[in-house]
Amino acid sequence: GHLDQRVSINSKDEIGLLAEDFNDMAAKLEEADRTLRHFLSDASHELKTPLSSIKVLSQSLIDSQEQDPAVYRDFLQDISSEVDRMAALVNDMFQLAKLQDPDHSVSFNDYLVGELLRHIKGLTAGEALQKGIDIQVQVGSDGEVLWQLNKDLFTCIFLNLISNAIRYTPRGGLVTVTADIEEDSLVVRVTDTGIGISAEDLPRIFDRFYRVDEDRNRETGGTGLGLAITRQAVHCHGGTIDVKSKPGQGTTFEVRFPKHQSYPAI
Ligand code: ADP
Repeated sequence: GHLDQRVSINSKDEIGLLAEDFNDMAAKLEEADRTLRHFLSDASHELKTPLSSIKVLSQSLIDSQEQDPAVYRDFLQDISSEVDRMAALVNDMFQLAKLQDPDHSVSFNDYLVGELLRHIKGLTAGEALQKGIDIQVQVGSDGEVLWQLNKDLFTCIFLNLISNAIRYTPRGGLVTVTADIEEDSLVVRVTDTGIGISAEDLPRIFDRFYRVDEDRNRETGGTGLGLAITRQAVHCHGGTIDVKSKPGQGTTFEVRFPKHQSYPAI
């Protein structure tokens, strides 16, 4: 392609160093180009599925001799669900693009960590109740602190992790959210008693559009972008996210927020 150009390095002097820099830049550009191409190909694949459903459903309504309005309503209901799915996808893609944009500025303020987590628990209470899942927020006295955060991103991170915990945990399970200070960092853990993730899948779950079980996921309605967005939102705080899981027993996501006066751009 047009990017796979390299200059030959013949010396160790300034020109040689410049040539090395040039080659590094070319490699980075190539990588960015590859990432973009993969993303476009994944994204169009993802959008194609609901689109073709909408096409088939609407075409069969047009061709149908059906008289019963109830049948029409059912078809329209299905079309509407597919439109919702596309909207969720487009929304998540937009979110991810914004978070990855180095020019996108994020503002930080001091928030009470326990208060935010209890508020987020409230936002997921409906989903939890529906599945008979108990959510416990356990913030130790050291976790009831003011921390420099972006409220929207913090909410996005734990809304995603708690929603996933509920989604991938069978009825009657338990989701625990803890917050502590460890080595000057704020550490928030979300633990569930759910289906878990195999060692083989674990390294890939933060990848865009990666799903452990394609079919199950379609039913549960995820976009496959949730964890990619979550990780990017954690990185905006200069933090890290880790996951440990035992299939059949449950999963723990651990998010660390370092105590920073200033945060990296991305
Ligand atoms: P989705 O929108 O499909 O949930 P995510 O990016 O949020 O996408 O998650 C990627 C995949 O990781 C999910 O499809 C699911 O297979 C797996 N996963 C995420 N969270 C959990 C969890 N708490 N327990 C088990 N599997 C999970």
